[in-house]
Amino acid sequence: MSNMKIETKCVQSGYTPGNGEPRQIPIIQSTTFKYATSEAMGQLFDLEASGYFYSRLQNPTCDYVAAKICDLEGGTAAMLTSSGQAANFFAVFNIANNGDHVVSTSAIYGGTYNLFAVTMKRMGVEFTFVSPDCTEEELNAAFRPNTKAVFGETIANPALAVFDFEKFAKAAHAHGVPLIVDNTFATPVNCRPFEHGADIVTHSTTKYMDGHGAAVGGCIVDSGKFDWMAHADKFPGLCTPDDSYHGITYAEKFGLAGAFITKATAQLMRDFGCTPAPQSAFLLNLGLESLHVRMERHCENGQAVAEYLQQHDKIAWVNYAGLPGNKYYDLARKYLPKGTCGVVSFGVKGGRKAAEKFMAALKLCAIETHVADARTCCLHPASATHRQMNDEELIAAGVPGDLVRLSCGLESKDDLIADIAQALEQV
Ligand SMILES: *Cc1c(COP(=O)(O)O)cnc(C)c1O
Repeated sequence: MSNMKIETKCVQSGYTPGNGEPRQIPIIQSTTFKYATSEAMGQLFDLEASGYFYSRLQNPTCDYVAAKICDLEGGTAAMLTSSGQAANFFAVFNIANNGDHVVSTSAIYGGTYNLFAVTMKRMGVEFTFVSPDCTEEELNAAFRPNTKAVFGETIANPALAVFDFEKFAKAAHAHGVPLIVDNTFATPVNCRPFEHGADIVTHSTTKYMDGHGAAVGGCIVDSGKFDWMAHADKFPGLCTPDDSYHGITYAEKFGLAGAFITKATAQLMRDFGCTPAPQSAFLLNLGLESLHVRMERHCENGQAVAEYLQQHDKIAWVNYAGLPGNKYYDLARKYLPKGTCGVVSFGVKGGRKAAEKFMAALKLCAIETHVADARTCCLHPASATHRQMNDEELIAAGVPGDLVRLSCGLESKDDLIADIAQALEQV
């Protein structure tokens, strides 16, 4: 499918049934797989032959779906994980270990920030956070001799900053390290980071890819472009023999195309077991089949709602990169010409109290800790995820008390705007 259009890949990539086989991806609900001889199975353990032996490491259903996402992103290898958190953890920990350092933008998902700044720090990996709007000089100054990767999000959740691929890819490659990009909010339908210099892409498939609030999941895709062996001293895990795997050197045995994902599967999935369920992979694939159709509508609704809010006299400000005048409008035009996403954030005049009143008055838009769902949902961080903070702390965290995050679903935009209008009337 690699030369087909993205719409065709969403529907058909990853699984091609043979004569008389199921049209839909079969759910291989089996923990283990049978072999005729111990020797045949031994070959799999030695990574001498490819095949399945235990579903903690690999399962055919999950691999069909990973292959589809791989094709959508234009990569060479991919793996599913049980969550987006696991995907980002694996993608970074696969190359950055105790004593290493990573440069990340500060505009990232709160869960990822905590993973990096608290949990991975405890594991001995240090992070330097730079503003997405930093200058090239500031960015270059963040690197250290032990830096192993650069990390960012195509569209930051919840800041909605658009990633400056050119600036970050240039700095990463000048320092001999890969650029890892979380492409959750854009999806490969609206942006393919490999075309703009990213080397590894991650996803929380829980969001638009699933799209129906049905299954938590994640994915990692490798572009196959980063030359590990050219920087062998920085990446001993890929470029020297793995004693825990029969002395295999991943970058030699699996080359540019396969080394990163094979190592992440053989070591990290083996040891941490953040394995997706075959049933969840099946549900994810149902979402992927309509991703291209849904993204268009999410963006159309996001744009319409953002434009409506912008002219409303009870709204203090609107943040949506599709609005001319937005700080990230030009970057969005450059990297996301088809649209950004359905998530809009805005401030209700009157601050925290007014935002709370507005939220309570909504009828169609549901209050949820979720985004990127078919059903429109919204969150007032100051009274939910960030409720322990006072007004000054909220501003420092980039989530002022009046901020409402609205994730536009697939309903009629007229009904969404009518719901917002009646709720604003009550403020
Ligand atoms: C939700 C999210 C994650 C975490 O994914 P889970 O599937 O909830 O573990 C990571 N990155 C981004 C951008 C997200 O929106």
